[in-house]
Amino acid sequence: MADVILQDVRKSFGAVDVIKGVDIDIKDGEFCVFVGPSGCGKSTLLRMIAGLEDISGGALSIGGRVVNDITPKERGVGMVFQSYAIFPHMTVRENIAFGLTISGTSKAAKDAKVQEAARILQMEHLLDRRPSQLSGGQRQRVAIGRAIVRKPNVFLFDEPLSNLDAALRMDMRMEIGKLHRQLGATMIYVTHDQVEAMTLADKIVVLKEGRVMQMGAPMDLYHNPENLFVAGFLGAPS
Ligand code: ADP
Ligand code: MG
Repeated sequence: MADVILQDVRKSFGAVDVIKGVDIDIKDGEFCVFVGPSGCGKSTLLRMIAGLEDISGGALSIGGRVVNDITPKERGVGMVFQSYAIFPHMTVRENIAFGLTISGTSKAAKDAKVQEAARILQMEHLLDRRPSQLSGGQRQRVAIGRAIVRKPNVFLFDEPLSNLDAALRMDMRMEIGKLHRQLGATMIYVTHDQVEAMTLADKIVVLKEGRVMQMGAPMDLYHNPENLFVAGFLGAPS
């Protein structure tokens, strides 16, 4: 089970409060999307869940365990970033295998895991290519492959499609939806794209200036926004 629960989570950088006490409850296997304007704290929240950023206050638990002081590796999360974060001098195979840093894993076992990740992403025929020989969508799939290969219980995506053109974004959005159905993992996905949020999410969390404005099923927020901000961001035209 990999529920992700944030209770009164806070974050300050120096004297600046960036996350001002958020409560978010994400169920095992749920696809949860964080939306909100630039600078509202989406990446900071994701980085705290990943363990890449300390938590200034409150409690974060994953799978029933408080992980505030647990290292990123032990949290069982995999993160896919906006920038592809793949290495140009390595092949696809090597880039995906980079997600497996565990020493003591035999080469054969590593190869099998990479093969499995490539199969899920339908990239088996591309394993020996270098990133320069791939399209933008294929490169982003390599970055996802690097997360998949570790079999995390929770996937974190930080605007993974924002560098892609509109057509490719639509394809990749469908692939990510498929991946979620296939793996059944908990996914937390940051975007500022309303369409992405509406189509992918089981649950949407609307953020503004480090606070949760509303949280709920996409259609619920669309038809019953609790305030003008949510209405303006996601609501039905009135
Ligand atoms: P978003 O991802 O929603 O665009 P961020 O989480 O990146 O927003 O940033 C939220 C706020 O926190 C911004 O005002 C940003 O300038 C600030 N911030 C983020 N990281 C740092 C940091 N390492 N040091 C100081 N301020 C930061
Ligand atoms: Mg961000």
